[in-house]
Amino acid sequence: MCKHTSRRKPRRLNMRKWNFCAGPAAISEDVLQEVKSELLEFNNSGASIMEISHRSEVYSSVAREAKSDLIEILSIPDNYEVLFLQGGATHQFSMAPYNFGHNTKEADYILSGTWSKKAIAEASKIIKVNTIATSEGKSFSYAPDYKDWSISDNAAYVHYCPNETIQGVAYHEIPNINKPLIADASSVILSEPLDVNKFSLIYAGAQKNIGPAGLTIVIIDRDFMEYGNPNIPNILKYSEHSLSESMLNTPPTFAWYMAGKVFKWIKDSGGLDYFKTQNHKKASKLYEFIDNSSFYSNNVDLVNRSIMNVPFLLANDDLDKTFLSEAEDNELLNLKGHRSVGGMRASIYNAMPLEGVEELIKFMEHFESSYG
Ligand code: PMP
Repeated sequence: MCKHTSRRKPRRLNMRKWNFCAGPAAISEDVLQEVKSELLEFNNSGASIMEISHRSEVYSSVAREAKSDLIEILSIPDNYEVLFLQGGATHQFSMAPYNFGHNTKEADYILSGTWSKKAIAEASKIIKVNTIATSEGKSFSYAPDYKDWSISDNAAYVHYCPNETIQGVAYHEIPNINKPLIADASSVILSEPLDVNKFSLIYAGAQKNIGPAGLTIVIIDRDFMEYGNPNIPNILKYSEHSLSESMLNTPPTFAWYMAGKVFKWIKDSGGLDYFKTQNHKKASKLYEFIDNSSFYSNNVDLVNRSIMNVPFLLANDDLDKTFLSEAEDNELLNLKGHRSVGGMRASIYNAMPLEGVEELIKFMEHFESSYG
């Protein structure tokens, strides 16, 4: 008997499918259409946005507008600088300790998943890292409560990852501590409003909720920034990037321009309050379905479940390959879990509408009834 789980006709004429990739992630079709419409020639400049100087008036106004839209969306206070950098979040793993580890030469880190582990590994080459809380012993199935962190007197700052993209583990409360707080917000930024005031430094790779890969957003308290190590190369110094308005060298112009389009789309859609509601609706539907099924499971503590990345396992991992190939046949892309943890993962960032999650659930239901 053929069990093949194929239930429907192609969703759209243009053949774009539901894309659950963890990053580079789906970008709103509205944004892509607009970018397409102005790709050959931008704003009567006679060239595409990729082919003009980053120092030209045409490009400068695009860059400035993107920055001011981001400031508006996140209500970033005046005493914070916003930088558009390169190197991804990975570059921030070393930039942060280079800038801020020079005085006490130590900092506290929270180990709650693969990305914070990588941040720790990099920082350890530069300063002494105190791993003051970890969930590694329980396979990163929860995020250690900040109330239990015992912060070191000498720590120059405390670093944590509010949303671990691979394990789907999140902090839903900003830690309230008496040290400068640094967050790797790569996979959670712009998913909901954020109280920027609580942080000294927030960084995020763009390729989830911001735009294409190649751009890294940094939001930094200006006083904290000025306190940074003066004796490091300019390319590593937040303060130099600030002085040059993120144009110390040629910035990733196309990614920055596209991020600006995404920021406009966020504003036009109703801002971060709108996305918060949508994102919670999507995630709770999916978790509810998983919890009510005996075929699928998610092992993360309820209070730490990610709203953006939903990992799940099938009852029988021999079926993983079949699940993925039938999902693709049903226009559901990139559901494979990270190679380090296996299983499945649905990343449901801002650009994934509720309809996409409902289609995923229908497919999962059907797959369970065929193979479960
Ligand atoms: N931190 C987090 C939370 C991530 O999800 C990722 C990428 N998936 C990274 C860091 C690394 O980002 P990049 O590839 O931009 O260096």
